[in-house]
Amino acid sequence: MEIQREQQLSKQPPVDGYCEQCGFSYDTGTLQGTVTLLVRQSADCSMALTKAAAGPDPNVVRLRPEPDVWSAIEYACHVRDVLEVQRLRIAQCLAEDRPVYAPMDRTGRVKQEKYENQDPMEVAAALVRFAREFGAAARVLQPQELGKLGLYNYPVRAPRTLGWIIRHTAHEIQHHRHDILEILAKVEPPIVPKPRTEEKEAAEEEAAEEVEVAD
Ligand SMILES: [Zn+2]
Repeated sequence: MEIQREQQLSKQPPVDGYCEQCGFSYDTGTLQGTVTLLVRQSADCSMALTKAAAGPDPNVVRLRPEPDVWSAIEYACHVRDVLEVQRLRIAQCLAEDRPVYAPMDRTGRVKQEKYENQDPMEVAAALVRFAREFGAAARVLQPQELGKLGLYNYPVRAPRTLGWIIRHTAHEIQHHRHDILEILAKVEPPIVPKPRTEEKEAAEEEAAEEVEVAD
């Protein structure tokens, strides 16, 4: 049951080549470019969650579009945890001769860590912080370090280079950014125009600046 559910939830995105669902390619891009994209897309996830939680119905972040599809907060918690686990794996890879990575138990964490009850503002803030920390750890890796192998468990147990781990993490973020935006577009109530206030104008300007950065 758990395995079946995990397959449905993850929709089995590829771990090399090109992902048709989110457009990520494992074969192109430099290390620096990949990390920059990861940090930017984590900020997108964070902003989408914040905006939805501050909207007319904050509970939309906890709505699952279908019983077997995670809610926005569940995906955001997952992205946050992926960023932390992967940063620790970079450290482990550099420290050990033959690193064997412990599975992160992506599905088990949803219930154990009570993803659906977490505070969206705290999750959004942690997501950005962990993305920066992951980025800082990844940017300084040398070619020799990027080629170092470790035993990785997902989706099958296989030796993977540290360079692949960086790319795979960037794919996780891009893939789930896509999921989060898609889910929120489905469950968010239509925006009812309200009288403009200075506060709202400032928030819109800030949002517009963020979008420019994201492009
Ligand atoms: Zn993808």
